[in-house]
Amino acid sequence: MSKSINRRDALKRSVLSVGALSILPSLGFSEKFNSPILDDNGNLEHTILFKEHLVPEKAKLRAKLNANENPYGPSPKAMEALKSAATKGNRYGWKSLGELVGLITEKEGVDADHIMMGPGSSDLLEKFGLVMFMNGGNIISADPSYMSMMNVARSVGAEWKGVKLKDDWSHDLDAMEAAIDKDTKLVYICNPNNPTGTITAYKELYDFCSRVSEKVPIFIDEAYLDFIDGKEGKSMVSLLNKGKNVIVARTFSKIHGMAGLRVGYAAALPKTLEKIQNITRGGMGITITSIEAAVASMKDKEFLTASKVKNKEARDFTYKKLVEMGYEPVPSQTSFMIFPQNELEGKDFLEKMSAQGVGVRSFEIYDKTWCRVSMGTLEEMQIFIDALDQVIG
Ligand code: PLP
Repeated sequence: MSKSINRRDALKRSVLSVGALSILPSLGFSEKFNSPILDDNGNLEHTILFKEHLVPEKAKLRAKLNANENPYGPSPKAMEALKSAATKGNRYGWKSLGELVGLITEKEGVDADHIMMGPGSSDLLEKFGLVMFMNGGNIISADPSYMSMMNVARSVGAEWKGVKLKDDWSHDLDAMEAAIDKDTKLVYICNPNNPTGTITAYKELYDFCSRVSEKVPIFIDEAYLDFIDGKEGKSMVSLLNKGKNVIVARTFSKIHGMAGLRVGYAAALPKTLEKIQNITRGGMGITITSIEAAVASMKDKEFLTASKVKNKEARDFTYKKLVEMGYEPVPSQTSFMIFPQNELEGKDFLEKMSAQGVGVRSFEIYDKTWCRVSMGTLEEMQIFIDALDQVIG
């Protein structure tokens, strides 16, 4: 029996999911935007379409597959650079930052005044969220998506309009465009999307950004784009040379394997960056060690290629094993994968996996309970598969 069609499904469904199931078919246009469900302190807990289950993380996991980290990083050259940069720790890193920005402008094909650096792309998502929404307005994104900017926007008083993904898990760009109103300050698109691991086709997204950015800025979060081959892996950054008001965020946390070193950047029109920097000021949030490691990592093409190849091997292995076990994983273009697991309630599942030494994530998305597993080494993926077998059988 396919494990995604489970006998206990009907009983195990949370109120949330039953609500989502009954509401979805009758969604009128305005209802399509999620109604955030808040905790006692007014923080966003979940939407009618999406909820995360959480348990405390165990100190020592045999396979830590819960934060989309790259098991191979940092690159050996980045680690050498880290060590030698430590001796310059008494100096600000402006000169090294100049070199890093130079490499980034070369890669992206834009001038240096189009680049804003940050300690991780989270920093940029937060700064853009704060500045763009400090006077209210609304932000449009997919639901589910990576919630960082929407949470910041909401915390300063903005409204979030979440638009359900299409059945093929791509962004519903028509619905997102239709959702724009006079108060919309920004459209956020995560491509490929987290937590689903799926993409929106390059051409469709390019046309959308090109046209819709005339009305409202579009923020494209490309944290996982480097894991994709060919045309679908092309960035939206080229729209900047056409004067389009897009903002593209990139990170060194994923393909470069530098999540703990905190380096990210946004590429945008200078007038857009000016608005942000007029408020946020200081530009030296990154340590000299991380800057020099990022420079070395950008030059280490061998490492970047190996990261991508090994990630794909882990993805193919995991997909095949899950299918053999009767699961129905969503084909992923990223360094993580989701699949429905409706045997166990989300928290119970996480606790049991954690007891096996495996860290994963669990979400309610639309009408199912999903596991999100990050790609580790092949050995870690085997540990994950064995743990899943033990926990669910
Ligand atoms: N954007 C997406 C889609 C992510 O998944 C993440 C982290 O997982 C980030 C941004 C933030 O990455 P960082 O702050 O490490 O650059």
